[in-house]
Amino acid sequence: MADRSPEQTRQYAEIKLDEFFKSVPPELKAHVVTLPKRITQISARPVIRLKEVLNTADQIFDHAGKFAACTRGCGHCCHVSVPITQFEARYIGENLGIQPVEQKQTIRHALTEFGSHTPCPFLKNAECSIYECRPLTCRMHMNFDVDNYWCLHENWNKPEAKIPRPTIQPLVDAYHLVVNNVAPIMADIRDFFPHGQGAA
Ligand code: SF4
Ligand code: SF4
Repeated sequence: MADRSPEQTRQYAEIKLDEFFKSVPPELKAHVVTLPKRITQISARPVIRLKEVLNTADQIFDHAGKFAACTRGCGHCCHVSVPITQFEARYIGENLGIQPVEQKQTIRHALTEFGSHTPCPFLKNAECSIYECRPLTCRMHMNFDVDNYWCLHENWNKPEAKIPRPTIQPLVDAYHLVVNNVAPIMADIRDFFPHGQGAA
């Protein structure tokens, strides 16, 4: 694979991101934009409100697939740090019938701290084994380049590496509105689930 310049990536991604945003139906855009306000008005348990955020993320990112470089079984992104909140860890744990390790304080990791030999514990046979309850960050992580060049392990530590990803700010805002009053402590998914779905 030929070396890629960040400028080539930026130019290509700009076009693809624009095509993605144009492909989203106006009513879905409005649904996303109003999500932070609506989420504060839903009088339901935080887990129901989190599900609303995750479902909305799926609805909008359903439109992204045909514009992104991501393919089934690619999964280099499952080797970088995956920060999630304690609340989301509990949500995943409930869905899987396992207890996450409760953290007393936020643990910060550099994006590339874990590396190619320390994948997310839920990556199995190059695929996500918890797809239905995977974290919001995984649902939003898409590469809008022409291919996965900047996601490859040999490239992700280069200073110029920059994966062009869409930021759907209302989703992020709504997520924090849900979790901030419940369990906002953050850590990597590996801190919460060091053994994946296996026994502790
Ligand atoms: S974000 Fe990168 S590594 Fe992850 S699926 Fe997409 S192209 Fe592959
Ligand atoms: S939860 Fe799934 S999608 Fe997210 S990093 Fe782990 S294996 Fe990858």
